[in-house]
Formats: sequence, C-alpha cells, structure tokens
Amino acid sequence: MRSFITARRLIDGKGGVMTGQPVVEIDGARIVALHENAPEGAELRDFGDATILPGLIDTHVHLNMPGNGMLLEEVMREGVEVMLATSVGSALQALGAGITTVRDVGCFGTTAFSVRRALALGYATGARVMAAGAPITITGGHTWYMGGECDGEEALRHKVRALIKDGAEFIKVMGSGGGTLNTASWRPAFTQDEMDAIVSESHRNERRVTVHCLCAESIDIAVRAGVDQIEHAGFIRRNAPQHYDAAVAERLAKSGIPVTTTLAVGATAINAMQQIEGRSPEQDAFLARWQRMLAENVEQFTRLSEAGVTFVAGTDAGWRFTSFDSLVLELQMMEQGGMAVSDCIAAATGRAAGVIGLEDRGILAPGLLADLIVVKGNPLEDLAALHDLDLILQGGVDHLPTPRAQRAAQAMTVPG
Ligand SMILES: [Zn+2]
Repeated sequence: MRSFITARRLIDGKGGVMTGQPVVEIDGARIVALHENAPEGAELRDFGDATILPGLIDTHVHLNMPGNGMLLEEVMREGVEVMLATSVGSALQALGAGITTVRDVGCFGTTAFSVRRALALGYATGARVMAAGAPITITGGHTWYMGGECDGEEALRHKVRALIKDGAEFIKVMGSGGGTLNTASWRPAFTQDEMDAIVSESHRNERRVTVHCLCAESIDIAVRAGVDQIEHAGFIRRNAPQHYDAAVAERLAKSGIPVTTTLAVGATAINAMQQIEGRSPEQDAFLARWQRMLAENVEQFTRLSEAGVTFVAGTDAGWRFTSFDSLVLELQMMEQGGMAVSDCIAAATGRAAGVIGLEDRGILAPGLLADLIVVKGNPLEDLAALHDLDLILQGGVDHLPTPRAQRAAQAMTVPG
C-alpha cells in the first residue's frame, strides 16, 4: 500500500531542507520516493505547518535500566527477568519520543539481544535495537557486573569472538573506570596492547568498536588503537577538577574518530534534583556536583568541537536520571555548547546512522526504511518543536497516539 506524507518542510537528515509541499512516498516498510510537489492523483496525508524528518537515533542507551535515578547496582539486584521487562519498556518509551532506533552500549549478558529479537519478531513494540551485549571491561572494571570482565590479549580476542557468537553487532569497551562502585574514571583500564587486540579482532570480524573514555590517557590509547568511536571523551583527574588537554584533543580531532556526547546525564540529574522540595544536604551536594560537571562537560564539548572533533548524539538513557525520551534535551545541550541546530539534528539522524553503521536509515531517501517523524512547527528554529510529535512512523507503521492503544483498538475490531 502506497502512502504519501506531506508537510510544509522536510529535513532529510544529511543537511538538506525542502520547503513548499515536499512529499514522502512510502510503500510498505520503505520510502520509495521524495517529491518536491504532490504527484498527480496522490492521496495526501497533509500535516500542514509541520516538519518531516528521519526517525531519531539515540546512539548511547542502556535498556536494562529505568532511568529513574536507580544505580546500576540497584538495578542488578532486581534480577535478569526484571531487567528484560524493563528493557521492553525502555524501548517503548524511546519510540514514543520519536526515537525509532536506539543503540544499546551495555546490558547484562545477552538481554539486549533478546529484546532486539522480540522487537524484530513484532512481539513487542519499541525503538529498533542495535546491541553490543556486555561491555568488555577489566576485572573489577566499570560495569563488570554485566558479565564482560576480561584481561590479556588472548582472552580479549576470545571475548570478542564470543560476543559476536552471541549476537554483538559492535563491540563496546570500557576504556576507563566510570560511575560504578570502586572504579577509577581517572585511569585507563586496558593497556595499549590489550586495546590493540580488541580492535584488531573486532575489525577482522567486521565489527566496529566504541570505547568509553573518561580520562585523557584513555582517549589516547583508544585513538592509537584505531577505534571507531569514543563515548563521553572526558578529562577526569584524580582528586581534581577535569582538565581539558588540548594536545589530546588535537590527536583525537586528527584521527577523525567521532565522539558521543551524553550531556543529558547531567541535565536530567539537575532537573531531578531541582524538582525536589526540601532537598537533603546529600541531594544539595549531588546537585552542586552535577551542575559543576555539566558546565565542565559542555565547555569541553565546545572546545572539542572547535578543535574539529565530530559528534553524534547519545543520551546515556537508563543511566541514573536519564529517561529514554531525553534525546531532545541532549540536542538542546549541544546547541548550548555552540553547535548549529541543523548540525544537532544531523547528529541524531544521518550522521548518527553513518557513524554506527546503519545504512538503511537516518536519512530520508528512496530505498531506505520508512522510519520518520512529523513534528509541529520548525525544529530548525527551536529544537523544542521535536517534542510536539504528529506522527511516528517506523517501517511504515504508525505509532501514534500510543502503540498500545492502537494495538488494542485493532484487537477489538469485530471479525466478519
Ligand atoms: Zn553509558
């Protein structure tokens, strides 16, 4: 069945904007054509003063976690069945926010593979899932509870193969400590030889590698190993404020390796704390710490951008207070850091898809998946327009008002 979606403007996800009466022609799950004007005889679904754009992509999420303030340690205590159910809810929340694809960069065991499978079978509704499984981490390293502990070059090569056997579409590595107990964010985790082994084995098996880096030295190790992407790119030091390292930034920029922002983590933590009336001294301290860290992170984002580093949008949804509808906030933080609005949108559509290796989506073009959204108004004037969704199309299937309500209505149709 062919359908024709039209609105006042269209953002194609690769830098192009069409105005007037652009029309997207869809046949089944795919886009078959983009028209500058309505084709003769086409029955238009006209959204008026609205914008058509590709379904959004969040390149950094953790489906296992609810994003309601829970620590990973607390989530793990609930057990794997609860984490699986949580993941389905997370994927649905993302879809409801116009995010048609998420990339899970760290789950317990193989849970994200199972969710990906159930969604692909149509047994559940949610954002399409790309998954790495458990992140590879040193013994006792960041997120070791997820099951990705491994040390030594031989063992790491085996680990990469085992992850791929289980269903990893890419490899996630914890290149430094992070926000889990007793891990050191200011210290690189793997040696250069170990990181080299992970990367060469992954590439031999046609898998991209992305590395969580919260300190300067971990960025250098990742860059030298030739990884495909870096998450966060922080400059944390031991018992000291972050310190931007221009020489490291220059090497990173020169490498061309893109970075995922994850500014929403701080923005959502601050929001959550500010909503509490009568905060405890601990909550006040938590708020002050995140206000300082977010300011540092935005400043580093600005300086890295100016140095020539490319960014894609990722929220770290699931982590602490980061809900699965935080991507617009992420883009707004990127704008605050000096990125042009059109570039922010590219970072969550076409550029995101390119960096993570999904060539069938992220832009509006013939032959690609009919994953698109329509929002009221013009997000190029105000990114907040991305909240005002008029249509969420995933593989040509309409997911508004809510997926559940729509399913229920179909189920209640009296046969015959
Ligand atoms: Zn993360």
